[in-house]
Formats: sequence, structure tokens, C-alpha cells
Amino acid sequence: MARKDDPLGVTHSVKFNTRLTSIDTPEDIPTNWIGTPIADLIGSHNFGTEIKVTGEPRMLISTCIEFRYRPAVPSQYAYVIRRASGRLIGSEFSLVYALSRGVKHVVLIAHNDCGMTQVSLHKPAMIAALVDQGWDAERAEEFVSMHAGRYHIEDEVDSLKREFYRLKRLFKNVEIAPLFVSLSSNRLHIPNWYLDFLKKPDLYEGSAPTIPTEEYLMLP
Ligand SMILES: [Zn+2]
Repeated sequence: MARKDDPLGVTHSVKFNTRLTSIDTPEDIPTNWIGTPIADLIGSHNFGTEIKVTGEPRMLISTCIEFRYRPAVPSQYAYVIRRASGRLIGSEFSLVYALSRGVKHVVLIAHNDCGMTQVSLHKPAMIAALVDQGWDAERAEEFVSMHAGRYHIEDEVDSLKREFYRLKRLFKNVEIAPLFVSLSSNRLHIPNWYLDFLKKPDLYEGSAPTIPTEEYLMLP
């Protein structure tokens, strides 16, 4: 049962508690992340470890615009892309730039209680906001409807999985780490599907969820 005193936590959430694994000690970090900037990021969030900067960009973090959360990284450490839902769709050029600057690790951070799971609920207010900015009502409606489909996500954990597989298809030689932050504790969690993936990475193509072709962009 979800605890009433912790509405934004994931540990006791019925929706998330069986789908995420907490990282309580450094031993809980998957071995493929040990010694990488991904482990440093987890240390900063979950163990209060200070991140040492070298002045070189070490990773790219993609996460939601969510105002209740901020990646715990110092300046001169990471490229950060923040977009509604946290997916990189439409920002692949930025990722390519980060790769060209030597980045070899990409972290996708999803979170609970994401507003993008309720786009239809927010739509009227978003249209009204545009009209308030001087837009014609019909154009405002058209704009919001057009983008709502692209930004809407059904479920925070599933959406993270889809984006992970999509990016793996597009960028084959960069380490991509899917993480999930709990808004109440600021702690990072690992989605269980990723731990399953690690056990049988060769099967990932076969078990990859169906992804609309247009989201793949420039696949050969
Ligand atoms: Zn969000």
C-alpha cells in the first residue's frame, strides 16, 4: 500500500514497488557501471559521494523538465538535456554533439508522478495558456494536439524502456543507463527490466518493445 505520508515515493508505491530495484549500497550497482560516471552519479544521489570534476564532459544526462527534481551533478561534469517526459526524441543532434566531445555514457532518468502521463488532463490549460499568449484558439488547439501525441507517455517505467531500446538502436557503441528517481527521496533506482536485460543482453533485440518507425529517425 502507498504510504499517505510519502505520496511521491516509489518504494511503497503499488505502481512502482515491484518494478524497480533500490540501490542501497555500492554493491547494488550493476558491474558494467562500476568505475564509470554512471556509478559516480548514483553515488552522488544515493550515498552523498562527492563527484570529482576533470573539466571534461563525462556524461550526458537526459531527464524530464520536472521542477521537483534536479540531477545531483556539479558544473563542468555533464551535458544535461531536460525535456517533458525526459525522452531524447527530437534532441538526437544534441546527443551526437556530446558524443563528438568524448562522452561515452548516457543516463536516462525517469521519475514517478510525471505530468506527461496526464497530457490530456493538461491539454485545455495548455491551449488556454497559448491563447493567453496571443495565439488564435484554433492554432493553439492544433499545436497542442500535434505535440501531445509525441510527448504523452502511458507509464513512466515502460516509457523509459522504450526510449532505452530506441537509443540502443540508434547509438550502438555508447553505454546507456536507464535510471528512475523517486521524487520524495531523490534516490536513483534501477528498473527491473534492465536487470533482466543484463542477464541476457543478446536477446534484447527479440524482446524489444514495438516502437513506431518515425521515432527511430535515421535508421538505415
Ligand atoms: Zn516528468
